[in-house]
Amino acid sequence: METPESTGTEGAVDQPPSRRGRAHYFPDVTDEDWNDWRWQFRNRVTTLEELARHLSIPPGEWDLRQSVLQDFRMGITPYYLSLFDAGNQDDPLLKQVVPLREEYEHRDVGLEDPLGEEQFSPVPGITHRYPDRVLMVISNSCAIYCRYCTRKRIMYEDAVPEVEIDRMVDYIAKTKTVRDVVVSGGDPLNNSTPKLEKILAKLRAIPHLDMIRIGSRVPVAMPQRITDELCRMLEKYHPLWINVHFNHPNELTKEAAAACDKLLRAGIPLNNQSVLLKGVNDTLDTMKALVHGLLRMRVRPYYLYQCDPVRGTEHFRTTVQAGIDIIEGLRGHTSGLGVPTYVIDAPGGGGKVPVSPRYMLDYDREGGKVILRNFQGKVYEYFEPREVPSPVAVHARTDSGESHAAPKAEDPSAPVVGKSSWVHRGTSHKKDAEAQGS
Ligand SMILES: *Cc1c(COP(=O)(O)O)cnc(C)c1O
Ligand code: SF4
Repeated sequence: METPESTGTEGAVDQPPSRRGRAHYFPDVTDEDWNDWRWQFRNRVTTLEELARHLSIPPGEWDLRQSVLQDFRMGITPYYLSLFDAGNQDDPLLKQVVPLREEYEHRDVGLEDPLGEEQFSPVPGITHRYPDRVLMVISNSCAIYCRYCTRKRIMYEDAVPEVEIDRMVDYIAKTKTVRDVVVSGGDPLNNSTPKLEKILAKLRAIPHLDMIRIGSRVPVAMPQRITDELCRMLEKYHPLWINVHFNHPNELTKEAAAACDKLLRAGIPLNNQSVLLKGVNDTLDTMKALVHGLLRMRVRPYYLYQCDPVRGTEHFRTTVQAGIDIIEGLRGHTSGLGVPTYVIDAPGGGGKVPVSPRYMLDYDREGGKVILRNFQGKVYEYFEPREVPSPVAVHARTDSGESHAAPKAEDPSAPVVGKSSWVHRGTSHKKDAEAQGS
């Protein structure tokens, strides 16, 4: 029997018949143009007039959509547009990038900078919120403009000047605590390969920087950009990680799968960040199809973001329960590798806060007993180890807070832990343990 060769496109979903694709929307474009990312970038749909050539705009919506575009630009690559289900106004990909009436209606609801990124910015372009890693915004443009984008305030499409990038690099170079930089935007992969290389080389020259991460939606929106030339350049700057941004299984095309495969073969681990969007991907079936397709492509689902309260995105926001229900429906029911961490980015700059279904129903610290619920709703008891005097227990403290032995409270090498986890257990734990026959 023949062993099937990997084509790198194993995750790709077959096109539904209603998606007439490139042949329908762009019948006259040559393969050479279509496969050239610069052609894709140059021929993005950016005006309503261009959009109306491909989709019908409902009567009476022209003016309000025009007014939305004055607030936040549109950009749709021919490739991404070719994935729309022709004629379906509820198409999950169309909704992500086409300005709709709802956006107009909610134009005054929400915040400019919901995550307070500007407040945590020591130099323009850097957000330093966590102790050991920073976000570095090196581009103000994207292949497609997502209507729900948290950073829509910066999308005015002037290139970030080199002096600004140098100031960002300088900040990282002089801040020794930074070991991880998230290079984002906008989309860093919109830059030409030499321009991007210049930035990566400067970052790589910083000795205390362990790793570089790039956040990009290009493999989703303009997979033609992932050329061999780009991959040969990127692989010189390892350890390099890339976070991609797939939201819906219809985005898992052969082209996207091939782009991811190239990056993976260049040794770059790929993790996916999705945004939970009402009417796009807020059902368990859609999310399951998405994470299964990603795993087939060897892309690990990393984060599922609750949609930020950005100006004009109210119609995309779901309840938090909707996100919890999706995680509940995945965990235990499918490969653990396919379960992302569901996070809410705390408004005002609190950072990402993980939110999860409640699996620990009770934790009796005194008794050392944990009550757990599994994915089927069955309840289990887990017992912590009983405290037996042993060399490793010398750090244990009594209820009164006295230390049995060395590290004194003022000892800077003493572990910093909450007192509660160091308390001696009562006898109830022992009885419970015996009742279990241990
Ligand atoms: C998301 C984010 C990071 C990276 O967070 P991880 O949890 O390490 O992926 C770093 N800085 C900022 C400002 C961020 O928003
Ligand atoms: S690709 Fe990312 S940065 Fe660009 S518009 Fe979409 S969400 Fe925003």
